[in-house]
Amino acid sequence: MANLKINKILIANRGEIACRIIRTAKRMGIECVAIYSDADSSAQHVQLADEAWHIGNSAAKDSYLKADKILQIAKSSHANAVHPGYGFLSENADFAEACALNNIIFIGPPKDAILAMGSKSEAKIIMTKANVPLVQGYHGEDQSKSLLQTEADKIGYPVLIKATAGGGGKGMRVVENSSDFLDSLNSCKREALSSFGDDKVPVEKYLTKPRHVEIQMFADNHGNAIHLFERDCSVQRRHQKVIEEAPAPGLSVETREQMGQVAITAAKAIGYRGAGTVEFLYDEDGSFYFMEMNTRLQVEHPVTEMITGLDLVEWQIIVANGMQLPLKQQELSINGHAFEARIYAEDPNNNFLPATGRVSYMGLPQLSDNVRVDSGIISGDSVSIYYDPMIAKLIVWDKDRASALARLRGALADFHVAGLTTNIEFLHQLASNDAFNDADIDTHFLDKHGEELCDISTSVTPEILAAAGLEVMLEQSVESTESSADQFSPWNEKSGWRLNEDNHHLIEFQHGDNLFSVMAHFRESHSRDDQHSKHKTFLFEIDGKEYQVSGYLKANKIHLNIDGHQLTISCSRDGSKLVLFKNASNWALEIKDNSLAELDQEEQANLTAPMPGTIIDVLVNAGDNVEAGQALIVMEAMKMEHTIKAHKNMQVSEVLYAVGDLVDEGAELISFEEE
Ligand code: ADP
Repeated sequence: MANLKINKILIANRGEIACRIIRTAKRMGIECVAIYSDADSSAQHVQLADEAWHIGNSAAKDSYLKADKILQIAKSSHANAVHPGYGFLSENADFAEACALNNIIFIGPPKDAILAMGSKSEAKIIMTKANVPLVQGYHGEDQSKSLLQTEADKIGYPVLIKATAGGGGKGMRVVENSSDFLDSLNSCKREALSSFGDDKVPVEKYLTKPRHVEIQMFADNHGNAIHLFERDCSVQRRHQKVIEEAPAPGLSVETREQMGQVAITAAKAIGYRGAGTVEFLYDEDGSFYFMEMNTRLQVEHPVTEMITGLDLVEWQIIVANGMQLPLKQQELSINGHAFEARIYAEDPNNNFLPATGRVSYMGLPQLSDNVRVDSGIISGDSVSIYYDPMIAKLIVWDKDRASALARLRGALADFHVAGLTTNIEFLHQLASNDAFNDADIDTHFLDKHGEELCDISTSVTPEILAAAGLEVMLEQSVESTESSADQFSPWNEKSGWRLNEDNHHLIEFQHGDNLFSVMAHFRESHSRDDQHSKHKTFLFEIDGKEYQVSGYLKANKIHLNIDGHQLTISCSRDGSKLVLFKNASNWALEIKDNSLAELDQEEQANLTAPMPGTIIDVLVNAGDNVEAGQALIVMEAMKMEHTIKAHKNMQVSEVLYAVGDLVDEGAELISFEEE
């Protein structure tokens, strides 16, 4: 590659897209400057960049939207280019211009192109002049209500009212008949004004069964413009994309070529440069209409990368450097099929309400040439109220649609997130849905099929309880041998210190409103191989039935054998929260406090000696309130000191031995008040 002018890029964004841009820029030998808000001080994009600058409070308006401050940082850090990503300032013409005025390359189109496409009405007027097909509608300046009503009546119902400055599906109203028009108009204008500060609305024919098909195009400064084929983004909730694919199923070669040419015409009409997306409504009869042009990189650009083998961020940088597009139209072709599923922290069972919180665990599917994950989050990070609740994008590729879809199902089943509600199971249902498999899709797909896809109920089977019970039993023995300094503490040796005839533990799990229990009895492990491994054997009583359960834990997986049936169930543990994952379903179980390390009712409140020895210190008195983990008594046995600690918060009823006393194994040392 020829010498690049751009040698240091400030990425005016966060999350997965910032990480995505950094990955390519670094590969190209370009230094990366990240910016971060309070909420993002240890975010992935900050860690991946060569340097990172604090920009302000967590709210976007105080941080990622602070154009002046961002430019200031670009100058102080000697970045000679800014990549805006998507969202935030990516389609802000003033910001693009300010960059140019400061001699900083804006990796995006010229200001005028952004302005031309920033208004849906403006864009449509330009497109009409360029002979680009439009849905029948009114995009004029005169916004009098009576005129808009007349125009709507002329178009014929249903009509769609949109905010001209709108985006992300906001400020759109479908009106079914003339008598509802004024009410909808008023409410659309109110929302448009409060969300976008502009209440101008176009009115257009509402197509009842369209698909959303968009063309990825690219233009350089040398008059070259090409298209990189299409993406189908028809599956939407609240007019927002959920799953995208490339190429669009069933699109003829001719239509693809026509759409591609229209996209290039549209781009040329506004003097476009860089990566852009021209969105179309593709109607049942094969006709298509210009909807809008997004003057930036799209969230769903990876599906295009997968079918073309190109890196679109690299192309953006090449074009921004003033170089020619690397390939000509005839050198481009579609290879195979790709899907992108957007993994969100949201609740499909509650109208996709965004969720926030800590991602206590994130386990990814096996990554390969076929499976890619773009994310700005790792286990332990949080999804905050401040930004989009997207956790990751899962992108898969294969030779055809059916194989790619099969891969998507597999990868979703192996995508594990704990700590908050996600749409993973919903996406898996979607990828398994017959109509979706048959590519019987349009923008109303989820209106039609949403209910069946959201019908996600996970019942807690004995198998799940056995896995959960095993995890708890094994996790305790791991803790006792690996993480405790006091390896002789009786609370750490669960398997035999009480020397009951049949040592058993009651483990209780809360799942939603239901309580489940597993009674675990220790059993000798007979296999010779097991002696050196962490393999343990138990007899579990679950719902009145007995199960022989054995197994071990390894890297967030429970390897278990239930009565001779071996299986592996993924899991994540965060304190008393245990989440099990199987076939894209998950079970979030709360391990009830009183069940951890607890025994049969009689012994529950008391504390006994783990081995014969001498009491050398008593640290509590009758009546004391003790906390879990607090040291109670120190014993000497086998020439070592052993501190015996409380396993939960309790009140001491009686201390039964004094310093110097000899105690037998199993002797009761302290009794506690019953709760
Ligand atoms: P936004 O900028 O808010 O994303 P768009 O104009 O891109 O709004 O439209 C978003 C979605 O709304 C489209 O993908 C499509 O599903 C639907 N839509 C937009 N215009 C029409 C129309 N005239 N008829 C039917 N559906 C439409």
